Amino acid sequence: MTPDPAAAEQVRADDRDHVFHSWSAQAHVDSLPVAGGSGSYFWDYDGNRYLDFASQLVNLNLGHGHPKLVAAIQEQAARLATIAPAMGSDVRGEAARLIAERSPGDLDRVFFTNGGAEANEHAIRMARLQTGRPVVLSAYRSYHGASGGAIALTGDPRRWENESTGQAVAHFFGPYPYRSAFHADSPEQESERALQHLRDVVQLQGPQTIAAIIQESVVGTNGILVPPPGYVQGVRELCDEYGILLIADEVMAGFGRCGEWFAIDHWGVTPDLITFAKGINSGYVPLGGVIMGPRTTERFAERSYPGGLTYSGHPLACAAAVASIHAFEDENILERTRKLGETVVEPRLQELKDKHASVGDVRGLGMFWAIELVKNKETREPLVPFNASGAAAAPMGAFAAACKQSGLWPFVNMNRTHVVPPLTISEDELSTGLDIIDAALDVADEHTEG
Ligand code: PLP
Repeated sequence: MTPDPAAAEQVRADDRDHVFHSWSAQAHVDSLPVAGGSGSYFWDYDGNRYLDFASQLVNLNLGHGHPKLVAAIQEQAARLATIAPAMGSDVRGEAARLIAERSPGDLDRVFFTNGGAEANEHAIRMARLQTGRPVVLSAYRSYHGASGGAIALTGDPRRWENESTGQAVAHFFGPYPYRSAFHADSPEQESERALQHLRDVVQLQGPQTIAAIIQESVVGTNGILVPPPGYVQGVRELCDEYGILLIADEVMAGFGRCGEWFAIDHWGVTPDLITFAKGINSGYVPLGGVIMGPRTTERFAERSYPGGLTYSGHPLACAAAVASIHAFEDENILERTRKLGETVVEPRLQELKDKHASVGDVRGLGMFWAIELVKNKETREPLVPFNASGAAAAPMGAFAAACKQSGLWPFVNMNRTHVVPPLTISEDELSTGLDIIDAALDVADEHTEG
């Protein structure tokens, strides 16, 4: 961590002059040059270290520089760095078997992709071919990726400028008890009314036209929305009633983030297809995929599946996945995630809610939590307007700046901050991070009417 201003300037200059950045007005990008990372921290070239409370893009489930993942990638690179998908590969097969063995119900086969969007593209393609129906239903307040089909599924503003994708997709409201679209008074009522609404959408859309309902098992970027009791089971029943496939998007919520292999395991429901990415190997090498059961596989037993990728099941990515699954078990990651969530994060966030005028709601499970900031606790008016940018988003910017000044890298989206650190974070680091958030919320409080 020796400061190296010349290296920082070179990184800044190359980045500014030659890198085209995601989701950004290019003239205003100001990326932090990052020199390295270890465990729950990463650091820049100027000697500043940040506690990574965002796990980068909520993918770094085992933290920076996990020695077992690094060794597995190095060993695989030296042995066989790449191999075509039509070849047999030991690590690809092993990764698929380990994933299948941890998947719910009869899901037992994996199609590997390079990331989450591609996984969702292939899941909806499979669902359309399997059912012979065109339409896919997805929720408002969802994110499913940035490629043509996946962005059409997405139910947040990132879809708006990509609307001409020509996909047969219709959106519905999922449950969100704090801001109920159904004017519900309790989680149970929210569940019941959200299910009735979904049934109405299915009926009006034409059940015989609907291939699949896709939903994040716990909604991620759009607010860590944990489904209320009975909801997931109710969606499964509705799908069964009409021959609709249920696709669980576990790209962000899966692989331990919610304290189970898959978030949907919390409700004991088996979807028809699961999509995953991110936490499967902490993003050390890009990897995603679709997990399917025999009904999907049978559809393509005698007829070719019309899709493929040069890097499907890339050996470096799969070696990292195998090492990651073993590390999860060696280090009891699922159990410690549940425990830290219940005994450290939840009680502390409840305290923050009582203490701060700006904290309207806290919610989550495992190591997947949201703090929703408001101007006024009574009216629940968000601290910044929906999809605000520039000056309108300044109060959230001030909160984030206060976190960074104190050495914490926060996840901020609209009027929320999410507590989503690596699952390997120590209890001390977690408490330090929550202390920093506590202090930064004083800054947010200044923008409230309380
Ligand atoms: N699905 C969910 C729930 C996500 O959170 C994301 C990314 O954040 C994606 C899909 C897209 O994944 P990727 O960025 O790897 O394409």
